[in-house]
Amino acid sequence: MHNYSFPDENGFFGQFGGTYVSETLMAALDELRHAYAAAKQDPAFWAEYHRDLRHYVGRPSPVYHAERLSQHLGGAQIYLKREDLNHSGAHKINNTIGQALLARRMGKKRVIAETGAGQHGVASATVAARFGMECTVFMGADDIERQAPNVFRMKLLGAKVVAVDSGSRTLKDAMNEAMREWVARVDDTFYIIGTAAGPHPYPELVRDFQCVIGEEAKTQMTELIGRQPDVAVACVGGGSNAIGLFHPYIAERAVRLVGVEAGGLGLNHHAQHAAPISSGSPIGVLHGFKSYLMQDEHGQVSATHSVSAGLDYPGIGPEHSHLHDIGRVEYTAVNDDAALSAFHDLCHFEGIIPALESSHALAWAIANAPQMSPEQVILVNLSGRGDKDINTVAKLAGIDLN
Ligand SMILES: *Cc1c(COP(=O)(O)O)cnc(C)c1O
Repeated sequence: MHNYSFPDENGFFGQFGGTYVSETLMAALDELRHAYAAAKQDPAFWAEYHRDLRHYVGRPSPVYHAERLSQHLGGAQIYLKREDLNHSGAHKINNTIGQALLARRMGKKRVIAETGAGQHGVASATVAARFGMECTVFMGADDIERQAPNVFRMKLLGAKVVAVDSGSRTLKDAMNEAMREWVARVDDTFYIIGTAAGPHPYPELVRDFQCVIGEEAKTQMTELIGRQPDVAVACVGGGSNAIGLFHPYIAERAVRLVGVEAGGLGLNHHAQHAAPISSGSPIGVLHGFKSYLMQDEHGQVSATHSVSAGLDYPGIGPEHSHLHDIGRVEYTAVNDDAALSAFHDLCHFEGIIPALESSHALAWAIANAPQMSPEQVILVNLSGRGDKDINTVAKLAGIDLN
């Protein structure tokens, strides 16, 4: 692993990734690839990125020893990387800041984004306002109904929200529509993708912008305990918070890496989870890249389910599929019930309301810590805060907040 260096020049992580798009989109991606290659080598670009992360986002985010929770479990010590404390409430802003700076460098005055739960739409609208850019967010018509507070947030921040009526009227369709819009207005428009997926170079650049999580964590763990954790664990939707934590640890072979997919109602329930790798899904192509992908027996993309809207995606970023193939990261799934229980545990023992997405990673730690010794350490990426989820949690408890 000491010479792990992906993607290759064609955007492949082993057999995954690539650029499976129409001719018209190819030109836009070429322009982006060249612009990012130049920015990546430019110290001034990264200086600006880090300045905004410090003064606007509030980084570095702390690492916190969840002592009461660890004591209650009676095994390994649980530490939390507090991405929930970032401005706008999650890790997503690390990426949207980076892409907005890239858009500005490319002279684009307008950004577009796709969103499912609305979190990436909010993070995109936030940076568009910050940089004085026009912002349009594509969102499935069903999601607009389900995520009314986030739709209102985007509008408060000055974004236009476009309802997508095609297909299943959710994230997958919103992403198709955003790609179509990008082709039509590539001259003035930059497409901000919300996770470490999509055609090359998106999986690479989103990863690079999220690696700040793992880089900070390495320094912080050394300061806190004088070494690295035994396990680092993160939830995986498209895979951006997880790759941000994992990538800087790939060469640290002593650190076990665990990616937690959304098990929904259980992996034996067809289309009732969002766990492409742990359910053993075949390889397929969606949204311009090749990866493990949930499909039915005819190769059609499956419906998905998760209690956490942010994990509800049938695919997974290509680098995760590769890290699974080479055995560097273990992928597993946590069901809705266990995630909800972890959500309540963190509220109760630590006074922290976690996002339901992050609660999946937490649930893995809660299940595994008791089998480990008190000298061992699990680092959990707490990818976001749970304020956005209180309606969901209340509803599941039979409480009507309105
Ligand atoms: C969007 C989101 C996720 C899932 O996205 P990844 O790209 O897999 O990180 C996880 N946690 C939170 C809080 C999110 O908002």
